[in-house]
Amino acid sequence: MRTHARAVVIGGGVVGVATLYHLARKGWSDVVLLERKELTSGSTWHAAGLLPLFNLSYSVGQIHKYSVALYPQLEAETGQNVGFRKVSNIRLARTKDRFDEYMYYAGVARTIGVTVNVLTPEEVKALWPLCETDGLLGAIQHPDDGYIQPADLTQAFAKGARALGAEINRQTTVTAITRTPSGEWKITTDKGDILAEHVVSATGSFARQTGAMVGLDIPVLPVQHQYIVTEPHPAVVERRRQGLPEMGVLRESDSSWYLREENGGFLLGPYEEGAPACYLDGPSAGAEYELFQEDLDRLAPHIETAMARVPAFGEVGVKKVYNGAIAYTPDGSPAIGPAWDLPNFWLNEGHSFGVTAAGGAGWQLAEWIVEGEPSIDMLGVDPRRFGPYASRGYLRKKNEEAYAKVFTVHYPDEERVAARPLKTAPCYDRMKALGAVFGTVYGWERPNWFAPPGYALTADDLAKPDVLLNENHPAPRPGEAIREKWSFRRSNYFRFVGEECLNVAANVGLQDMTPFAKALVSGPGARAWLDSIFANRIPKTRGRIALCHLLTRYGGVRSEFTVFEREPDSFYLVSAGALERHDHDTLRKLLPGDGSVAFQPVTEAMGVFVLAGPNSRALLQTLTDADLSNAAFPWLSGKRLSVGPVGLDALRVNFVGELGFELHHPIAMQNALFDLLWEAGRAFGLKPFGIRAMLSMAVEKSYRLVGRELSIEYAAFESGLDRFVHPNKGQFLGRDALVAWREKGFANRFVTMEVHDVTDADARGSEPILHKGEMVGRCTQGTYGWRVGRSLALGMVRPALGDIGQELEIVILGKPHRATVIAESPYDPENARLRA
Ligand SMILES: Cc1cc2nc3c(=O)[nH]c(=O)nc-3n(C[C@H](O)[C@H](O)[C@H](O)COP(=O)(O)OP(=O)(O)OC[C@H]3O[C@@H](n4cnc5c(N)ncnc54)[C@H](O)[C@@H]3O)c2cc1C
Repeated sequence: MRTHARAVVIGGGVVGVATLYHLARKGWSDVVLLERKELTSGSTWHAAGLLPLFNLSYSVGQIHKYSVALYPQLEAETGQNVGFRKVSNIRLARTKDRFDEYMYYAGVARTIGVTVNVLTPEEVKALWPLCETDGLLGAIQHPDDGYIQPADLTQAFAKGARALGAEINRQTTVTAITRTPSGEWKITTDKGDILAEHVVSATGSFARQTGAMVGLDIPVLPVQHQYIVTEPHPAVVERRRQGLPEMGVLRESDSSWYLREENGGFLLGPYEEGAPACYLDGPSAGAEYELFQEDLDRLAPHIETAMARVPAFGEVGVKKVYNGAIAYTPDGSPAIGPAWDLPNFWLNEGHSFGVTAAGGAGWQLAEWIVEGEPSIDMLGVDPRRFGPYASRGYLRKKNEEAYAKVFTVHYPDEERVAARPLKTAPCYDRMKALGAVFGTVYGWERPNWFAPPGYALTADDLAKPDVLLNENHPAPRPGEAIREKWSFRRSNYFRFVGEECLNVAANVGLQDMTPFAKALVSGPGARAWLDSIFANRIPKTRGRIALCHLLTRYGGVRSEFTVFEREPDSFYLVSAGALERHDHDTLRKLLPGDGSVAFQPVTEAMGVFVLAGPNSRALLQTLTDADLSNAAFPWLSGKRLSVGPVGLDALRVNFVGELGFELHHPIAMQNALFDLLWEAGRAFGLKPFGIRAMLSMAVEKSYRLVGRELSIEYAAFESGLDRFVHPNKGQFLGRDALVAWREKGFANRFVTMEVHDVTDADARGSEPILHKGEMVGRCTQGTYGWRVGRSLALGMVRPALGDIGQELEIVILGKPHRATVIAESPYDPENARLRA
């Protein structure tokens, strides 16, 4: 075994070996993999081998696409048969909502470059003669996917990696990982130590044990998953004998199962309610090729629906049931990327579709490690999307929920209920009393919208479609009124959100934005450091606020911060609540080593209220003797205020495009502040508003969001950040690459569009944008703009098609709509209201 390596990968499942292969392919031959038992002896050996391309996450979709394209090539490259059966994959739809999901997904797939066909029930029958088609509305088909032999695939990766110089050590257990004074990682194994620059943890069900070696609470906990293999069926055997094509992988999503042919019989895999989290304290030291006791009772409802759909399935006996561990995260997507707080420690964990994801996950992680950045926007799988709130108990509830919801409709407005409420701001009960319907971000409860007193959906509204497991309008907690129904279309809350927007425009609204990520950056080197990392100028005048972007080394956008110099050499940074760990970890890793800058997270110490609307100044003025006039307190500045007895920082910024203030206050004083504002607000038409109203108003202002229009994949100038990015200010992170990118020419341009003829479904983001039938871009956000009375969308298109007046088409839920490029900020383009 080598004693030094550039990178050590821990774990010889398909994911670890694929990572090793891609590191070697990137030119790092000095890489080593350590596996405690045999390759594939964790979860990989018993996987059903399906390769579903279907995924609504952009990051995961890209990863899956890469894998499915790579696997046949890998066989050609290594000579190792991977058993790839490209039999296609058919997903059935029994309900309108399901069909909407498929149509939305078809748009996502098109923007990613994945082929999807829409099938009628008759076409399903032609492809799957043993499938009954009663009650089907139709289906979608991925012609390019199918299934593979996971163990053979792993061996092919291993062969390919070895051929490129990588070393694989089986029967070698990592027992400790420490950091040497020189900054390397020392990996201790039962066969000796290795020093390495980088460590990749790809340890499947062992993730939390591996994390514990370096003090990381990795947000992964496996869940049990079963599939049934039957005896051969004469009809399938006969089809094989006649040389007829193998029937594709069949998924009845509305009954939550997959089915495929297996050795003349069938393989059925349900995703059932009640599957327990497992290995709560990790697998045992001796665990190898481990399965759990089967539990067919749990699968019974799914078996019944499978028998109804494919009667032949019910005509043969069960040969074997596999019940194995499948790694999960709270949202069901894997955790691929850097570990927080540790340099050069990488995670490739939490894979529930690891056979499908392995190739793409290895590819992107290897790019990240070797080149410093992935080329795909990986926010959807970044391990730092979860925070310290994701304790083992939380994971247990959320991961079981994520498992049970693999096949439920993935509504864009879905708010899952497990492990809630967890983090609540002090004003939670007050907001609740005002009718708040909450969503979650980063573990926090946050009002999405406000229902009128006594509002509840009626029995008619609640009529449930005939499906297993899918509930699109759960009670937040047993016994509570059901107040929203999720949908891909405008749903019951649409008009209430509209009322919130219109009240903000006419009077004044109050919003709880406590989940914002907040930090203090201070010290003698603080200003110079911020100036060296951010693309915007750090204001010289105390009290001025700047919107600052942190670029990638290639000139894309990683994060966005509001920066306010609170005291000399002490800067207050605010960024997206969902990205707290991501943003703070990124900043901490960039801190200078000389101790001249201190970084202090203050998210949980500070609450935030947004007070926005034309009456906001007059309202606030009744509570403070400070001069709030425009001259004394202009737009884009901040001020220390006493509001009644509450000392706070007021920032004249907001995300809704009105005169307004963000009130950053000590969280312990939140309710005192709330009561003051609420009482004083009576005279000014104060009403609460939620995140959905905010997002709608933000689109009316063409405001960009990280993960949408701002991405590591788009140059900052492609996203139209010219006002905030100043290459002539001197050096900053990503500057030279951005300038070079501009010289090379851009492939995208940010546009705002009006969408025509919308009746009940606005764009939401990820829809294809067409010109003369050809795809020329994708939507990044969309909404109905209540203040402008139009359906709007933001998007990225080819630069030549971004001029005002350009006619385009946006495909919403399968239906093309005419869209016209309009000037940015259709609401108050001069910012007169903001500056008032
Ligand atoms: C019943 C079932 C069916 C499935 N079907 C599919 C499917 O059809 N398609 C699909 O894409 N996915 C499927 N999956 C999921 C798939 O099996 C996993 O996502 C995948 O195998 C994960 O691979 P991995 O490399 O991350 O983990 P593993 O295969 O578990 O590998 C992790 C490895 O790390 C090693 N290790 C851990 N700790 C240490 C240490 N300290 N030192 C050295 N080595 C260590 C372990 O021994 C293990 O071999 C299925 C899962 C189950 C349970």
